[in-house]
Amino acid sequence: MNLEYTDEQLAFRQEVRAFLEAELPESLSAKVKSGKTLNKSDIEQWHAILNKQGWLAGNWPKAYGGAGWNAVQRHLFEEEMTGASAPRILPFGLAMLGPVLQEFGSAEQQEYYLPKVLNGEHWWCQGYSEPGAGSDLASLKTRAEREGDHYIVNGQKTWTTLGQHANMIFCLVRTAKEGKPQEGISFLLIDMNSEGVSVRPIVLIDGEPEVNEVFFDNVKVPVANRVGEENKGWTYAKYLLTHERTNIAGVGFAVAGLESLKRIARTEQSKGRPLIENPYFAAQIARIEIDLMAMSTTNLRVISKAAAGQAPGAESSMLKVKGSEIRQAINALTRSAIGSYAMPFVSEELEPGSNALPVVPDYAASVTGAYFNNRKLSIYGGSNEIQRSIISKALLEL
Ligand SMILES: Cc1cc2nc3c(=O)[nH]c(=O)nc-3n(C[C@H](O)[C@H](O)[C@H](O)COP(=O)(O)OP(=O)(O)OC[C@H]3O[C@@H](n4cnc5c(N)ncnc54)[C@H](O)[C@@H]3O)c2cc1C
Repeated sequence: MNLEYTDEQLAFRQEVRAFLEAELPESLSAKVKSGKTLNKSDIEQWHAILNKQGWLAGNWPKAYGGAGWNAVQRHLFEEEMTGASAPRILPFGLAMLGPVLQEFGSAEQQEYYLPKVLNGEHWWCQGYSEPGAGSDLASLKTRAEREGDHYIVNGQKTWTTLGQHANMIFCLVRTAKEGKPQEGISFLLIDMNSEGVSVRPIVLIDGEPEVNEVFFDNVKVPVANRVGEENKGWTYAKYLLTHERTNIAGVGFAVAGLESLKRIARTEQSKGRPLIENPYFAAQIARIEIDLMAMSTTNLRVISKAAAGQAPGAESSMLKVKGSEIRQAINALTRSAIGSYAMPFVSEELEPGSNALPVVPDYAASVTGAYFNNRKLSIYGGSNEIQRSIISKALLEL
């Protein structure tokens, strides 16, 4: 295994860096840097810029309009994007549904849906979880009953990220009650504008309606919108989850978060000196930085295995656990760095165009919200407890 980048890979990094310098709008990077809320049009604007460059779908083959990058190129791109404070690319259509359609969708589905993911016509969300079906996903109850060339869908999904902006949802639905629960699930593509679909926001602890409940009340869905075979949806769902967990370590986010923590610790004072010079505080930063360096090396190890054609296994669970722990540790330490500024959390300060008088310095405004919001990291994409079970079975053979 060689962890040094080749000249070609370094040239690719330079190309990405030059593109970001030239094309990433200042207005967007400033929002990302200060933790301000990105609205729908911000995300659409950035997707459109990347799509014009042919870089929106780094993971898709060129034949489908993607960039066809290998794992190392995707990693370098991610690093440069977070380093430049670019908005993150939304994964639902690009990193989750796209690969499933390319592997299991019909030619008609590929031709119809894939270009719409790229040009932004379709904003997808993920309808997997239900009340009572999260970690134990196969116990999902949303029913789809066949009536001629349609299914009639009834039930509820929950925790649907950014579903308030979406016009399409990919869903796991129950099409058979007999046999093992996994054997009666199908994978449906549902137009959110269909009659009988309603969306109710769930406001999270940081005040943002980032997730939603989605209800289906006798929703008519053409059978042509089913991906693959009836009752075989579990296979496609699991394939999608392996893509969802790609890059879940979030190394780039952690590096950016640590830089921001250090900047704040240079500004904040402790006993008349910059906080960063306080030995106890500096030791805590060092502890996190050492963990981050170790995780980055593991990440490169996994990427280098993937580049050599080996699919990452339980290592992606290790990265998920470690990555979320490190990011949460950075959030907690940043929050303690701003001291009493963590108390008056005014979420309106994060709204673009807010003209309220600032209660805390600009660098402190988003810290508490980020701390609260990132409690989710150890829950979604498969909770850390579940990942630890995977590690203990697959790696430790317990
Ligand atoms: C912010 C956010 C966004 C999300 N976005 C989406 C989305 O867009 N689409 C979507 O479909 N879902 C989404 N989810 C749902 C997410 O995937 C689930 O929350 C997650 O899988 C956990 O399921 P649960 O919430 O039902 O918790 P439960 O499964 O009820 O678990 C509760 C606790 O028990 C533990 N636990 C459960 N089973 C075991 C076990 N066998 N062994 C040990 N411990 C166990 C869990 O680890 C957890 O700590 C999102 C969740 C969050 C928080």
